Amino acid sequence: MKAAPFYLIALAFIMMNCTEKNDKVANNANDFQFIVEQFADLRVLRYPVTGFDDLSLQKKELLYYLSQAAIEGRDIMFDQNYRHNLAIRRTLEAIYENYEGDRSTDDFKAFEVYLKRVWFSNGIHHHYSTDKFLPGFNEAYFTELILKIDEEKFPVGKDEIIKTLLPVMFKPEFDSKRVNQADGADIVATSANNYWGPGVNQNEAEAFYAAKHDPDDKTPVSHGLNSRLEKVDGKLSEKVWKIGGMYSEAIEKIVYWLEKALAVAENKKQAEVISLLIEYYESGDLRTFDQYNIVWLADQNSHIDFINGFIETYGDPLGLKASWESLVNFKNIEASERTIKLSDNAQWFEDNSPVDKRFKKSEVKGVTAKVITAAMLGGDCYPATPIGINLPNADWIRKEHGSKSVTIENITYAYDQAAQGSGFLEEFAFSEEEIEYQRKYGFLTNNLHTDMHECLGHGSGQLLPGVKGDELRAYGAVIEECRADLFSLYYMPDTKLVELGLLPNNEAFKAAYDSYIRNGMMTQLTRVKLGDNIEQAHMRNRQLVAKWTYENGKADKVIERKVVDGRSYFVINDYEKLRGLFGELLAEIQRIKSEGDYNAALQLVENYAVKIEYELHKEVLQRYEKLNLAPYSGFVNPVYKVEKDENGNIIDVTLDYTEDYTEQMMRYSKEHSFLPVYN
Ligand code: ZN
Repeated sequence: MKAAPFYLIALAFIMMNCTEKNDKVANNANDFQFIVEQFADLRVLRYPVTGFDDLSLQKKELLYYLSQAAIEGRDIMFDQNYRHNLAIRRTLEAIYENYEGDRSTDDFKAFEVYLKRVWFSNGIHHHYSTDKFLPGFNEAYFTELILKIDEEKFPVGKDEIIKTLLPVMFKPEFDSKRVNQADGADIVATSANNYWGPGVNQNEAEAFYAAKHDPDDKTPVSHGLNSRLEKVDGKLSEKVWKIGGMYSEAIEKIVYWLEKALAVAENKKQAEVISLLIEYYESGDLRTFDQYNIVWLADQNSHIDFINGFIETYGDPLGLKASWESLVNFKNIEASERTIKLSDNAQWFEDNSPVDKRFKKSEVKGVTAKVITAAMLGGDCYPATPIGINLPNADWIRKEHGSKSVTIENITYAYDQAAQGSGFLEEFAFSEEEIEYQRKYGFLTNNLHTDMHECLGHGSGQLLPGVKGDELRAYGAVIEECRADLFSLYYMPDTKLVELGLLPNNEAFKAAYDSYIRNGMMTQLTRVKLGDNIEQAHMRNRQLVAKWTYENGKADKVIERKVVDGRSYFVINDYEKLRGLFGELLAEIQRIKSEGDYNAALQLVENYAVKIEYELHKEVLQRYEKLNLAPYSGFVNPVYKVEKDENGNIIDVTLDYTEDYTEQMMRYSKEHSFLPVYN
């Protein structure tokens, strides 16, 4: 599971919590270009891999190999998102590279923006809303561009582009949504993603995997996780993603680099992790994947760590099929003291939560948490990246072996730096006091919220016997994110955090409460088109939590809606009562999850999380527009430069931060693109 960046765009400005290393970057912050460029609703940033230069040569070499393995899966993500994505991307890139006409026209500029958006979203559907976005130029212009370029430059014939790809790109109603969660719809058949072959419907997809479920299996594999289910001659069959199977050309490259990494592993345990991952990529066997996860969990001492594989299931409306992603990182040792304190006390937090005893873990196992420095992002983590991750996802492994949770602090740091002086906070915060709290404690409480969300929240609670964990179906992801957020929010004002030295005083938590309500009620709406509903799981979660507490605390004016000069604000009057409400909702959400109460989940989500008040939405969008900001951010990666001696041995690895967005995307498409146009 991952935590998406949310109110970070509104983030704080004074570094209360920066580690020594971050101070070093902060001192050089003027030299480091955090902001690369902005277009459409997107902003591209750059992250510093703080501390890289101080690593040993062996570690640098290991990071280099893992970073290459992280880039090689990029095409997989494009193809998983939509079957025409690779054809479209390569067509656009061919035009971008070979067009000799006027590049200064509005049409060509709109063409460039469209290409940049396709890169950013790993396809033609928005990375966050999953809606198809349309080009800002028309079909006639596009046809003109195509006709001006030699046939052999294109991935498919010109006729094919015009016949097949044109309607795909330009017709709004055609494959309009990558992930359709709409209640009552056949969410498999109406979602454009490529996890389910053409003609496969929801009922048969669910029946196919229900038949594989063995209730007596205490170590059930995650059926369907690494395959596409398709219909051949009316019969359903899985196409497994492995060497020799689907996506083989990309997976072979990934394994090539993993083998190099294996040779310079830090220790035996890490070598075992890498070996098992290679074995899994070779066989596609999900039992090996589980074994790999268990060993990966046990590897606590390595400085360098990585995720590489088919991991998260947000892109599949049924939550079964996983997108390919990679995150290469190393531990930020100083900042990890914070998360060590939390995980050392995980049992205390579990025991003292407001949740019914039956739904609590009597023994919290192996919740480990650390703060990390991202060294490379790939697949579903690139260019838009999470700020925290908690893995593995398999419930039985989490229960038996625990989970590993990370906060990616050089990413949150880059967000923070990029947000400085944007005016966003000043626009939506009600009072000077609120602004001041945010500036003083915002960076600290945001990081702490991510820590607690990932390490305590997702790791807490248990299912009742007989509950499988997938009963909540399409509402499962929202309820799970609510659970993790509420666990964190409930504890944020607890004196325990001050006792542990995680917060400096009993007031700092207010920054977290203010920004959560501000975001859940208003500022996250900047990401939604006027008139639309909220679709994305994390956003639904935040509105659910904020709106439920607002509505249920109305009689006591716990949160008050104030309007000044036509501007709306949501102001917390009673922090203590708000904490009580968070606790109440947490108890209910945990009950829903533990009992698998589908109807209660449906009620909560549909009543609080989906609909937006039209007038408020309009106002928020107008206020936001004046600030000229972009609601979504992503990152370019650093370039790994390798220096070799005359015998070909690596003698140094350095990072270069000068590559811009288009350069990087075009380079990846040339050097790291091995999949066929259609898979
Ligand atoms: Zn989460």
